[in-house]
Amino acid sequence: MNSFIEQSNFFEGNNPEKIAQEYGTPVYVYNENILRTRMDAVAKVITKYPYTANYSVKANTNIHILKLALEEGNNCDAMSVGEIQMLLKAGFPKERIFFVPNNVSAEEMQFAIDNGIMTSCDSLAQLELYGSLNKGGKVAVRINPGVGAGHHEKVVTGGKKTKFGISEEFIPQIFEIAEKYNLTIAGINQHIGSLFMDPQPYLDAVTNILRIALQFKDLEFIDFGGGYGIPYHKLDDEAVFPMEDFKKRLEPILDDFVAKYGRAPLFKSEPGRFCVAEGSVILGRLHAVKHNNGKTFAGTDIGMNVLVRPSMYDSWHDIEVIREGKVVARDNLMEQTVTGNICESGDLLAKDRPLPEMKRGDLACVLDTGAYGWSMCSTYNSRPRPAEVLICKDGSVKLIRRRETIEDLMRLF
Ligand SMILES: *Cc1c(COP(=O)(O)O)cnc(C)c1O
Repeated sequence: MNSFIEQSNFFEGNNPEKIAQEYGTPVYVYNENILRTRMDAVAKVITKYPYTANYSVKANTNIHILKLALEEGNNCDAMSVGEIQMLLKAGFPKERIFFVPNNVSAEEMQFAIDNGIMTSCDSLAQLELYGSLNKGGKVAVRINPGVGAGHHEKVVTGGKKTKFGISEEFIPQIFEIAEKYNLTIAGINQHIGSLFMDPQPYLDAVTNILRIALQFKDLEFIDFGGGYGIPYHKLDDEAVFPMEDFKKRLEPILDDFVAKYGRAPLFKSEPGRFCVAEGSVILGRLHAVKHNNGKTFAGTDIGMNVLVRPSMYDSWHDIEVIREGKVVARDNLMEQTVTGNICESGDLLAKDRPLPEMKRGDLACVLDTGAYGWSMCSTYNSRPRPAEVLICKDGSVKLIRRRETIEDLMRLF
């Protein structure tokens, strides 16, 4: 693909240079049509049985984006009291929120109980705490499936080495604690990791949790977790996640379980990245180019405080160059290292990346930044966090989060 921006008509006829000037840089720009399409796609992963796709909001908690998920029929997973509060504020009814925390305090758990929000306990200790706070209640437990998958060790969340979930050998203790506090284990959930493009490990994990589920008699739901990947190398024509193939292969696994269990509980999945990643780009300004020891550095205002994934996970994000409002064609590429403005040598967006030669004043347009982009921003180096704008269905541009100011940072002192 020569240009995702052009092919997807990402700016819907708006001039990116104008957006950059009006809202300043760096700025996150979202496309409502793309977001809605992805949210709708995950809502239809299972059609034969009762099913909900729970958008995992830690990927992006902007309230305006949560409202799109609400309208597209997604339920949501929250990891913290803060995320629950964002969801309530966005208009989600409590029944459509699932709390999947780990290592929370009694106060945090009590908040979910008081608000009638289904909670999953990630350890026997947390289940014990839940039981003591809500005797006779309904609760879920997170199972560690003993297998994991993902793009980086830091995002593999299932498997013997990870901190998450309760391993299978402790299932008898789950029942002991449930009996002690008269709890109903109404759901089990898992999450094997993030960003896989091959459905097989996920399908194996589904088969595995369904085998485990046979030991639980009162299940209202079984949650298979998230992690569906998106093509971060789209400019090199990386294929998309094979959703149709995945759905076809999932169905017989569910059929087999339903026959054995005698009924179909509600099935759930928890996609985060798939819903939002491709619906956003960051526009940043190129302020300085320099040549050090034979390397060319293109210095932008997109620091690791704005997008941490490249420095944290060595993640790849495609970059397009925009000059005077137009995408610069990708012929005549030259190796450049694209950096931010933070005082860290690890503040790199792209290392030795073949790109059109960048010049001062150009815009760097970083693709696929809707997931774990703004939600992982920081104010490192006392740089206020960027604004977010949404290109609406009708092509209008709406500010959905104002840029943070120095006064915002000062207010905490
Ligand atoms: C982060 C997370 C997800 C979402 O993962 P994606 O890779 O963004 O789909 C789902 N479930 C749990 C428990 C998570 O922690």
